[in-house]
Amino acid sequence: MANDFVVVGAGISGITSSLYLSKKYPDSNVTLVDSASSMGGLLRSFDYGPWGLFDYGMHNISATGNKLVDDILISLLKSEEWDVLEGNNRDLAGIYISDRLQTNTPYPDVRASPQRDSYVSQSTSQIGLHQAENIHRSSREYFLERFGVQYCQDVLFPILRKTYKKDESDLAPLAGKLIPLGRMCAHSEEEMALIYNDNGLRQLFSCPEQRNLPEYLIPDRKCYYPAKRGCQRVVDSAEEMLRDQGVNIILGQPIDSIDMNGSQVASISVAGKTIQCSQLISTLGAVGTVRLLDKQYIPQFTDKPFHVYVVNIVSNSKPAIVDDLHYFFCYQQGLSTYRVTFYNNFCSDVKDSDLFYFNMEMLLNDEEAANLDIDSRALKELMEMNVIQNEKDVTFIQHEKLPYGFPRPTVGNMEAFDAARDTLNSIKADNMVVGGVLSEPDLFFQGDVLSSLFDKLVKL
Ligand SMILES: Cc1cc2nc3c(=O)[nH]c(=O)nc-3n(C[C@H](O)[C@H](O)[C@H](O)COP(=O)(O)OP(=O)(O)OC[C@H]3O[C@@H](n4cnc5c(N)ncnc54)[C@H](O)[C@@H]3O)c2cc1C
Repeated sequence: MANDFVVVGAGISGITSSLYLSKKYPDSNVTLVDSASSMGGLLRSFDYGPWGLFDYGMHNISATGNKLVDDILISLLKSEEWDVLEGNNRDLAGIYISDRLQTNTPYPDVRASPQRDSYVSQSTSQIGLHQAENIHRSSREYFLERFGVQYCQDVLFPILRKTYKKDESDLAPLAGKLIPLGRMCAHSEEEMALIYNDNGLRQLFSCPEQRNLPEYLIPDRKCYYPAKRGCQRVVDSAEEMLRDQGVNIILGQPIDSIDMNGSQVASISVAGKTIQCSQLISTLGAVGTVRLLDKQYIPQFTDKPFHVYVVNIVSNSKPAIVDDLHYFFCYQQGLSTYRVTFYNNFCSDVKDSDLFYFNMEMLLNDEEAANLDIDSRALKELMEMNVIQNEKDVTFIQHEKLPYGFPRPTVGNMEAFDAARDTLNSIKADNMVVGGVLSEPDLFFQGDVLSSLFDKLVKL
């Protein structure tokens, strides 16, 4: 029997799509397929028995502003099983920079810099020159136009080079959007109160204390995290709901191809078996989808993805410097840390624990991944950043390499994604919807990925 809907990829995109379709069309049959042996994609967790669940890096469920999507996301757990993060506590992020953990704002704070006045005057004078968002070729062009030369050279470009191990002229504008670089912190609260009334300035400068953001500026989108630690709980609950709704779930089978009949997708081939479908939803993004449509297709990536390592740690003491931060990005030159996430500060399960649960993400190139002793490097860097004071405080440490890499947001790679989207558009299969990371330009964050996918699904 032909499947009405076949959904490829069982990450949060595939999960929510399958739930939506099976509910909206209760008489249809929906098949969800993933090559991994368990579903969830990047929303999965590692289970360390007595130490509990640790996620695949920092993940929470952020409301998207699209009611349809948000209702599905929130339905994945019972209301009492969620911790709701809202108001000024919705997303407390910091950065480690210039030998110091900055907790007041995730944007570079230049108020104490001798160059502060010239950073502000150059940035302000750029306002009239800002062009449309999507015309910049590189991060260099994008940020020079936004902030002028001095702040870029002194602050932003070193951060970009440290994070992506590439020159800013080789990085696409997306590189500067994956980490919070869009504003600088250069003013007092009183000065900001005036700036908030000016649309141009407000886009450039940040509030000096994220916990005091005026109510009218706080995004009304809440964030959700399981009250018992581990995003895996969301995935497990979703799997149960999908099975209850009669969705056929096929896991651990490689997908050989997506097969066309004229201008229509006719079927997919999974481990040598043909599954016919009337409507295909691929959540593999443009490149992943084109690769299944054309086995000869070789995407012209210029830069390999980073290997993503997550180091999961339990320690005996919580250092005061961490304060109530949910996570911070590390911009310090010479350190491999990308981000450190503190579960005790957003998950009620461990909020009052004597133990301190956290993870560190590292983005490594081939050479680094081959040569680094991950655990000792993690401990060394965490001590340098004062997140742990003494190795003896660490009661548990385990590192994991994620099965998925981090796509390097270089100009060359983004051109390869553009080319894959062009190929998809030229195929014009009208019974195929493509979503997922980079299925559209600059689409990366979970909320944006889901909103974009559902904009397409509601039109079916
Ligand atoms: C290191 C890192 C950090 C991130 N940080 C953030 C963040 O802080 N905030 C945020 O909002 N977003 C973040 N993201 C992005 C976020 O993870 C994605 O937006 C989200 O995972 C998208 O969900 P998805 O279901 O589309 O994809 P995924 O979660 O990647 O799931 C894709 C699924 O497809 C399956 N699959 C892949 N290839 C095939 C194939 N050929 N056949 C069958 N199945 C296949 C995979 O097994 C997987 O289950 C981060 C991503 C990475 C890599």
